[in-house]
Amino acid sequence: MPFDSRLGKAPVQVPGRGDGVTDRQCTIRYFDIDWLSRHDGPGTRVVLFLQGCVLACPWCHSPHSRFVRSPILFFENRCLSCGRCAGVCPEGLRGPDAREEREVGDLCRRCGACVFVCPASRPDGTAGALVLPTREATPEELFALLLPQLELVRSIGGLTLSGGEALLQGAGAARLLELARSAGFHTAVETSGLLPRERYAAVGGLVDCWLFGLRSDIPGAGARERFGARAENLRFLATLPARVIIRKPLVAGVTDTLEELEATIDLMTECGVLEIDLLPLNPHTGHYYRALGLECPPMAEFIPTSDAVAAVRVFFDEGGLTVTSR
Ligand code: SF4
Ligand code: SF4
Repeated sequence: MPFDSRLGKAPVQVPGRGDGVTDRQCTIRYFDIDWLSRHDGPGTRVVLFLQGCVLACPWCHSPHSRFVRSPILFFENRCLSCGRCAGVCPEGLRGPDAREEREVGDLCRRCGACVFVCPASRPDGTAGALVLPTREATPEELFALLLPQLELVRSIGGLTLSGGEALLQGAGAARLLELARSAGFHTAVETSGLLPRERYAAVGGLVDCWLFGLRSDIPGAGARERFGARAENLRFLATLPARVIIRKPLVAGVTDTLEELEATIDLMTECGVLEIDLLPLNPHTGHYYRALGLECPPMAEFIPTSDAVAAVRVFFDEGGLTVTSR
């Protein structure tokens, strides 16, 4: 869904020093809201997507979510070549052609001057040729924004914090979960499963459902260790009085190997976590990579055949798991 601009806040201007900055300020940086999702937790969800991720999976469908600070997206096909963005930058960056310099050199202040002067961008900077996607708000402001929609789904769903990696912004996420819980809403948190144990423990009593990414991520060095770290966190979450649903994106040759499938089912059975949601990859992500000045991933190579997907489903079904897929 398109970014919601109802909050009307100025674009985020957070120094790029990690989530500790946000923890102290207790604000939340977010890049999207899905007001009516059927895919991110039990029932119908209002989903808040928080900025920042600990991974950089090659098949990621929202690479702009990875950064601690808001990236600037340049959609060249919308550019009118008017040149107005050149010359307004307080850092002397050259406009859209300098996007690589902004990201790599990290010189950009995220002041938004180039975005707001652009006639091909929306006045709030959330769409168009130049886009500053991330917004920042306190948990209280965000809860007030989400509340009317949460009331509509109160009996059929609830609030989901997703990302990026939602719990990177631990204090803000905890406060928002607290507000939702105290108002009687069902809460869910999606995670890669790779954060330190304390991050999960800190909000353990505020989460009704965990959406846990038990899977390999980047093949090669460290993959086995990261799977092991996820396993330890899953064992911990399984001791909490919350529902846990495993989420596994199906990536050809990475998450659908026999070794990975056996490790997954063994661990889930050990933990008594028996629900798994198989996620298809989104092949239509090239525009985000191009807008960031990044190389587009070879998505066609990552997408498994329909036979391979069916075989994975059968494997988990026969292993006694409850399997859902889209
Ligand atoms: S956001 Fe501000 S600092 Fe960054 S490139 Fe645009 S004008 Fe320059
Ligand atoms: S101001 Fe906008 S439309 Fe004009 S050159 Fe810059 S990006 Fe393109």
